Amino acid sequence: MARETPLALTRRARRINRVLTETYPDAHCELDFTTPLELLVATVLAAQTTDVRVNTVTPALFARYPDALAYAQADRAELEDLVHATGFFRAKAAAVTGLGQALVDRFDGVVPRRLADLVTLPGVGRKTANVVLGNAFGVPGLTVDTHFGRLVRRFGWTDEEDPVKVEAAVAALLPRAEWTMFSHRVIWHGRRCCDARRPACERCPLTRDCPSAFLGATPGRATGAGPTAARTTGITATTGTAARRSSGARRNSGPPPGV
Ligand code: SF4
Repeated sequence: MARETPLALTRRARRINRVLTETYPDAHCELDFTTPLELLVATVLAAQTTDVRVNTVTPALFARYPDALAYAQADRAELEDLVHATGFFRAKAAAVTGLGQALVDRFDGVVPRRLADLVTLPGVGRKTANVVLGNAFGVPGLTVDTHFGRLVRRFGWTDEEDPVKVEAAVAALLPRAEWTMFSHRVIWHGRRCCDARRPACERCPLTRDCPSAFLGATPGRATGAGPTAARTTGITATTGTAARRSSGARRNSGPPPGV
């Protein structure tokens, strides 16, 4: 079986991005915000819950705490009450207070627009920093979380599990200008079609270019995806074996996940 060359991998990655662009023309950050600070706080609150849930608490939160100083000086019990519905409310209230304090102490209360500065804030990792950079400041960034990693491994773009290595692998395949929107498209595709347990391959527009198509419901390496698998399963031809796909189609015969 022919191995997929780096050039072929890049071309396939860009085809996948094009199809996702056509499939999700309205993809966007699903957290509601109007300022970098609001997005930063919303992203911290989004840990272990849904964007929809976060959006139910942020209108009152943002009205009560209009700036970093307000978060730094917040009454903890009141803040906990306001973020309660997002879960882990004590830890999240503490994180938001610490964030406000750090912004006041080190950045004059202003959210910095450099990755190197953002990741020094308490509770802010590369993913959160890239969300803020990409969506509040227009600086391209890849927001790699568990779901993003799962999908790009299924795409056969990388074998890496470490988010920083995943980010580097994807960054090498796509133009920088595409990074932020690609992140949204991947997240939307994961939520609407490529579910962790039951990927809806039978209605997925990417089957032609996805080495995990109809392989069934297993994450990451276990799908047999990743460049290694892509190179050895003939992914660049659009001809995954009929038997494999037929078998996979039977395994995916249940109702499609998500919306
Ligand atoms: S073909 Fe299946 S595994 Fe591949 S991206 Fe689509 S839903 Fe996911």
